[in-house]
Order: sequence, then structure tokens, then C-alpha cells
Amino acid sequence: MIVVEPTHLKAIADAAEAAYPNECCGLLVGTGRRPVRVTRLLPAANLAGSSGNRFELDPRVRLDAERSLRGTAERVIGHYHSHPDGSALPSPTDLAEAWEPELIWLIVGVVDGQAIQTQAHRLDRALGRSRPVALATRK
Ligand SMILES: [Zn+2]
Repeated sequence: MIVVEPTHLKAIADAAEAAYPNECCGLLVGTGRRPVRVTRLLPAANLAGSSGNRFELDPRVRLDAERSLRGTAERVIGHYHSHPDGSALPSPTDLAEAWEPELIWLIVGVVDGQAIQTQAHRLDRALGRSRPVALATRK
């Protein structure tokens, strides 16, 4: 299970709508294992730009995050991105690029510029499958 605060979910939905018709992306920083709790979002540039239905998270954001979180209780627990005019399910492209099976993928489906659904998944490229992760909010 992943626990995400409503303010964070709202921020991700807003980013997804602002990036439309392109994909937004960013890192999820958090703590814990069962459940994993999101503590912060780190928005990142999508280096794939307007090249269509994919994203390429700026690797510098990841490197900076790993460096600054070293020795703290927080870690990079996953990332988020949007699917313009798509569902909140992982795409074949996502699965092909899922190199880190421990990361949680938060995906926002955006239709006509409106974020309609957010789901969490774990993707395993080696096994060629994705599995849903329960998403809970807290107030
Ligand atoms: Zn995707």
C-alpha cells in the first residue's frame, strides 16, 4: 500500500493537467515499507518533451535526490507521470522501461485536459508484468 496525502494527489493532478497534452513527471520521496508513505514530491522536467506518449525523467533530479536523501529516513520510493488521453494503467512503453521493480509508479489518466484517475503500480520488466498497488489518502 502507498499512502499519499490529498495535497500531494492534487499537486500531481494539477501538474498532469498543466502538462497536457504532454506528460508530466516527477519523483515520489517517502518513508516506510508497509505502508510506504509519500512525504514529498520532486517535480522533474520531462526530457521527452512533446514527443508523444512517453516520459523521460531528468536524471539529474534523481541523482540530486539520492544524494540529498542519503543518511536520512526518506528515500526515492517511486515516481509519477501522466497519460494524456489515456488510462492510469501502465503502457507497454512503461513496462519496457521498468528497470527498477521496487519503485512505485503513480500514473494519472488525463482526458480532455482533466485528470480523471490516479493509480499506483509496481512494474517488473523482467517478469513482463505490472501489479496494482493499493493507494490510500489521509487527511
Ligand atoms: Zn506511462
